[in-house]
Amino acid sequence: MSDSESRTTKEVGGIAALLRTMHDALAFAESAQERLDKLTHVIARHVASDVCSIYLRLPSDELELYSTEGLNREAVHKTRLKWGEGLVGVVAETKRPLVTSDAPLHPNFAYRPETGEDPLHSFLGVPLIRSGKSLGVFVLQNLASRRYTDEEVGAAQAVATLLAEIAASGELFDPRTTEEVGAMLHRPERLVATGVVSGVAFGKAAFHEQPAPKHKVFAKDAEAEAARLNDGLSALQASVDAMLEDTALEAAPREVLETYRLFAYDRGWKERMRAAVISGLTAEAAVEQVQAENRARMAQVKDPYLRERMVDLDDLSNRLLRRLAGKSAAPAVLPDDAILIARSLGPAELLEYDRSKLKGLALGEASTTSHVAIVARALGIPLVAGFDNAISLAEPGDDMVVDGEIGEIHIRPTPEVALSFREKQSLQSAQQAAFAAESELPCVTRDGVAVSLFMNVGIPLDMDNLERTGAAGVGLFRTELQFLIGAQLPRAGVQEKLYREIFEKAGGKPVVFRTADLGADKAASYMKRRAETNPAMGWRGMRMAVDRPGLFRPQIRALIAAAAGRELNILFPMITVASEIMAARALLNRELDWRTKRGRDMPKSIRLGAMIETPAAAWRIDDIAAHVDFLSVGGNDLMQFYYAADRDSELVQRRFDPVEAGFLSFVAMIAAKARAAGKPVTFCGEQASDLVTAAALIAVGVTRFSSPASAIGPFRRLVRSLDAAAVSKWITGHFGEAQRPLRREFEAFLRQAGAALS
Ligand code: PEP
Ligand code: MG
Repeated sequence: MSDSESRTTKEVGGIAALLRTMHDALAFAESAQERLDKLTHVIARHVASDVCSIYLRLPSDELELYSTEGLNREAVHKTRLKWGEGLVGVVAETKRPLVTSDAPLHPNFAYRPETGEDPLHSFLGVPLIRSGKSLGVFVLQNLASRRYTDEEVGAAQAVATLLAEIAASGELFDPRTTEEVGAMLHRPERLVATGVVSGVAFGKAAFHEQPAPKHKVFAKDAEAEAARLNDGLSALQASVDAMLEDTALEAAPREVLETYRLFAYDRGWKERMRAAVISGLTAEAAVEQVQAENRARMAQVKDPYLRERMVDLDDLSNRLLRRLAGKSAAPAVLPDDAILIARSLGPAELLEYDRSKLKGLALGEASTTSHVAIVARALGIPLVAGFDNAISLAEPGDDMVVDGEIGEIHIRPTPEVALSFREKQSLQSAQQAAFAAESELPCVTRDGVAVSLFMNVGIPLDMDNLERTGAAGVGLFRTELQFLIGAQLPRAGVQEKLYREIFEKAGGKPVVFRTADLGADKAASYMKRRAETNPAMGWRGMRMAVDRPGLFRPQIRALIAAAAGRELNILFPMITVASEIMAARALLNRELDWRTKRGRDMPKSIRLGAMIETPAAAWRIDDIAAHVDFLSVGGNDLMQFYYAADRDSELVQRRFDPVEAGFLSFVAMIAAKARAAGKPVTFCGEQASDLVTAAALIAVGVTRFSSPASAIGPFRRLVRSLDAAAVSKWITGHFGEAQRPLRREFEAFLRQAGAALS
């Protein structure tokens, strides 16, 4: 047996024995207080700690010292800390263990003389987490200044998991307090984050990452539990084997899965869980205990590779828990009217859900221009992003309201709050009706500048909005969404059918088909890809298309076939240099020759366009313009590359505002050069959905836009209320100034000038 193996076995035996002792201590205690005191006593003895304390969360949302071995007894039920106050408050709030070798020197230390903790230096606090909520804090303290080992942190985590289970079962409080704490934990919550896709949605909380089902902690029959654990593990291993046998898998994910499989079969993992079962825990509690130990280790590991592996193990533990509960590992089936909560979500994952049931989204991460947001917008699903705690504050089935305009989420709203949002919702539909009534009005500024408004489309469902909004046509059809939904590359015939449907639904209005912009965050599961550190700047868009004619040519063939007798507009994404257009045109010509030779019907006309999404293309836009018939500014990507700020990063995506002299003068240059080259240019970025930005873009000479359906009504109203010359004078008048955001002043100017901003 290796050194580390023998240590692990000893450690597991130690923790298992401790848990067993705790179990026994509980059996003979009469009152809740007695139970707690016995627990702190046996734990302190077992881990040889000078102090062992348990703080519990009260209905007032304070943390009270409920039991201690080692601190002054008089402090019990007297010492209280506010949420986030002192080291204990920080542990509860952050839901993370806190270790320090010199507690009094810690910036969050809160001195409580009655506890007599002055001489204590080392501190180890671990939160009691149940269903994602902090129920209290378990603390070990020592006189000597020392560092707790990983094993000690792991053991404390295991104890805290068990304490949380006991607390949740109501055994640590009297019944009344248990009820009041329950009410406090389930009180209405209001979270303010960032509105990404506007609209108000009502529904029931549903989790993309499902929380572990509830279960018992102690088992009567250890043998039977060991057998359950074995069966669960075998089923898990078989499912991982099946994943690997899937021949559709490409090299990179296979490697990842191979490592994943090694973990599924890892004997150390199995042995540690088995030992916990033999000590009297249920299979589920054993999995959670070992998971908690792993998480504690994970928190210490710096090496990214190892961390990833630890994450694998965490994922396996969750799958095993679901198996033990008799549930499959497949994506959740949504309740009717679901508000889906997730840390992050990809566009394909979103499309996998039943759209008729999905009413709103609450995501930890997503920017306005992320593809998940674009899909959500296309589907009309309000989205709020930029917080993590909805995951821990909500429970499946909780009532929720999501307001994607103001970026608010309400969990378990009071009837009054729900009512006010219902009112807002009906007001919004009234507003939509008002916009629809204006859809035929000319889209011209007060001083006679005509602005063309097109619509962005991702799925056929969007096309129903074309007439309602009065958009001039489809300015951007993102064809890649079809590639992302299925388990395999859509065949040319399937693509042709979709494009034909789009043409038919367009009813003669022009449609711009953008060839598949795959890569970056739009990676289809079946595609062979190498891991890239910066996929947004990697093998994507046209770069991938010219390297993989097997992907590009069938799409071109499908487009030509669907456009027989019609006007075909093809737009190439992520163009950086003109030679990419030439390569694409050569491939297109081959397809045209093929079809001509066979005497098939051809499109009435073919126009090619390039997306200006990189500063390189923008800077040399005249080179690009010489090779195409029209241009399209991909503002989402262009801004990301202009500011070198990841459009999907919560940390930087809102840091820079397009209403700033630098970016606006850059767009002004693009518009002017396109005009000089005699090529129409359309701004397709989602930024123009914001009316102040839209006015600024008009001010710098952009007169064609393609926006999501929901933005078109307000956009037309804005255009009709603007004086283009006046806004242009205002914006260009600030071009020479030092870099600074202009939004507030510009908005004030617009309001004063009577622009329709809401
Ligand atoms: C853009 O980048 O602005 C754009 C329209 O393309 P996408 O958002 O699909 O990358
Ligand atoms: Mg783009």
